[in-house]
Amino acid sequence: MSFADSELELLRRPRRVFTFTIPVIMDSGKVKIFNGYRVQYNDALGPTKGGLRFHPEVNLEEVKTLAFLMALKSALVGIPFGGAKGGIEVDVRELSGKELERLSRGFIREAHPFIGERVDIPAPDVNTDEKIMGYMVDEYSKIKGEFVPGVVTGKPILLGGSLGRTEATALGGSYVLNKYLETIKKEPKDTSVVIQGFGNVGSNIARILHDDGFKILAISDVNGAIYKKEGLDIKEIFSMQTENGVIPNVKKVNKLTNKEMLELDCDVLIPAALSHQIMADNAGNIKAKIILEMANEPVAPNADTILRKKGITVIPDVLANAGGVIVSYFEWVQNTSNNYWSKEKVYKELESRIIEALSLLLEKYNKLDKEEDMRSVAYSIALEKILKAEKFRGRLK
Ligand code: GLU
Repeated sequence: MSFADSELELLRRPRRVFTFTIPVIMDSGKVKIFNGYRVQYNDALGPTKGGLRFHPEVNLEEVKTLAFLMALKSALVGIPFGGAKGGIEVDVRELSGKELERLSRGFIREAHPFIGERVDIPAPDVNTDEKIMGYMVDEYSKIKGEFVPGVVTGKPILLGGSLGRTEATALGGSYVLNKYLETIKKEPKDTSVVIQGFGNVGSNIARILHDDGFKILAISDVNGAIYKKEGLDIKEIFSMQTENGVIPNVKKVNKLTNKEMLELDCDVLIPAALSHQIMADNAGNIKAKIILEMANEPVAPNADTILRKKGITVIPDVLANAGGVIVSYFEWVQNTSNNYWSKEKVYKELESRIIEALSLLLEKYNKLDKEEDMRSVAYSIALEKILKAEKFRGRLK
């Protein structure tokens, strides 16, 4: 896809960038100041939408890239949102529950003039969950003097959350993977899978794919990976009580480092943790045949060509993990119409939206004789829509 200079100029920079300092009174009585960011990258297709992450390494450049990816993701799957992302520099393991609540409310106090259900709608992302969204909707509603559930998505069900939102990202990824394998005539029972990350997305996709009949060879958390050549007993692992995001102490498995796990021989590798896990220096060692990107940007841009030359198919994040924002859209529709859906309806609508986007993508991709990767095709579909909307708005010629 080629662009006019004016198009490039418009796409290259985010529309709005906010940086916040958020003072929080810690349990000790001392005040600590946290840095926060929100980038509203592009709003041609509607209010900006995207997660808010809590991580010590969050920085503005990364948030800008992720906000751009959100704009592409929403455009690709055809939901009426632009793209945004936010982050707060914090190690959540160092905060008490009360401190975390004060930080979440503090973010809303700083950001409330710039967000809103028709402006910019945050959601969970790395280390943020429905509990945090609950505090945020409460704080925002307090400031506005009325209940505004549509200002954030990924809320607890009782505060206007959608059934199926928690598992939506993983479920969307499983629909995409199953359908893609069907097109290459491969059965789940003959497909081995390695999953990096045991947070909301990694743990849910492990459970769902195991139920679908896939053989899960390895899973990992921040401490490392566990591996079993014959396939892990995922049911047993889930029956053991564990802390969120942490794999329980399973017996009779091999322990691997994260790096060793990424390089295992398998059919499908699912990075479901942080970005840039597969880079130019380890892409050459990847033995998987398919990479399903469930994290945002787990394959660094400098690794894409290496993987394509090795014949590895990367199903890009903007499609693979779009289930989250699709069900966020359903949640917003339910909030703004005050009409709530059954879980069956959410699942059915999610499946049809994400499969339609996959089919459109494959139709274009398969015509290209593999001289382009799936990511570039997905980007061009999304960018075409964004640029068309910019033209309809009269912001581009
Ligand atoms: N954080 C998720 C993502 O990166 C969900 C965003 C949303 O629901 O707005 O896609």
